[in-house]
Amino acid sequence: MADNGMARSGTAPHVVVVGGGVAGLAAAFFLREEPVRVTVLEGAGRLGGQLAVSELAGVVIDEGAESTYARRPKTARLLKAAGLEERVVAAGTKSMAVWSGGQLRPPLERQFMGVPCDMDELAKSGILSEEGVARAREDLTLPREGREGDRSVAEVVGGRLGREVVDRLVDPFLSDAYFGRADELSFEATLTPLVTASRRRASLAQAAEA
Ligand SMILES: Cc1cc2nc3c(=O)[nH]c(=O)nc-3n(C[C@H](O)[C@H](O)[C@H](O)COP(=O)(O)OP(=O)(O)OC[C@H]3O[C@@H](n4cnc5c(N)ncnc54)[C@H](O)[C@@H]3O)c2cc1C
Repeated sequence: MADNGMARSGTAPHVVVVGGGVAGLAAAFFLREEPVRVTVLEGAGRLGGQLAVSELAGVVIDEGAESTYARRPKTARLLKAAGLEERVVAAGTKSMAVWSGGQLRPPLERQFMGVPCDMDELAKSGILSEEGVARAREDLTLPREGREGDRSVAEVVGGRLGREVVDRLVDPFLSDAYFGRADELSFEATLTPLVTASRRRASLAQAAEA
């Protein structure tokens, strides 16, 4: 149990955060300046939850999460607020590649989790077939659609940009980051920044650029 020490008995509300993983710790961190008493309850013997490091053959390795997308503003804000910005290490230059049309091709420069922003770059990349690129371009003119309920990534992205974008661009990212497939993962839960940006735009490609 950890307490922020603001024992304003009687008047200050008492906030109890259950779980000392990164979510609970972030909640407690942002509450520390508020006029509330904060207590974090953690059932395990250490804080951090799924974030942990251990040593293997003399090398320190991450057991769980080892990276975050710099484009996720909430994570970037948390790192900055916690004074950890300077300690962020950029990913190495070796990046993923997509096997398509009989060769390995580098991923798109302008994309968000595989959702392409620039249709000309997409066409030049050779990752999609000509039909696939033509279908992806339809995203720019298709009317805005209502998104009721929790739909899969494949349904939403495929509906706007076509199945090839899902299979050749989005799935490789999702399987790396979430160990899951676009047909099974929730659009809202996995591509959250895109959900927010696409509320203001019909085009998913334009939302991915935002
Ligand atoms: C192998 C692996 C790789 C990953 N890679 C990435 C990555 O590269 N990038 C990324 O962004 N994410 C990654 N993730 C996901 C990321 O690690 C998790 O989403 C994140 O750490 C979850 O944080 P959390 O605080 O929500 O939950 P948790 O970390 O699960 O923390 C929950 C905490 O609550 C405690 N708790 C639960 N119930 C109670 C209770 N009743 N009372 C008291 N305490 C309780 C638990 O002991 C735990 O400490 C990865 C996850 C795994 C497993």
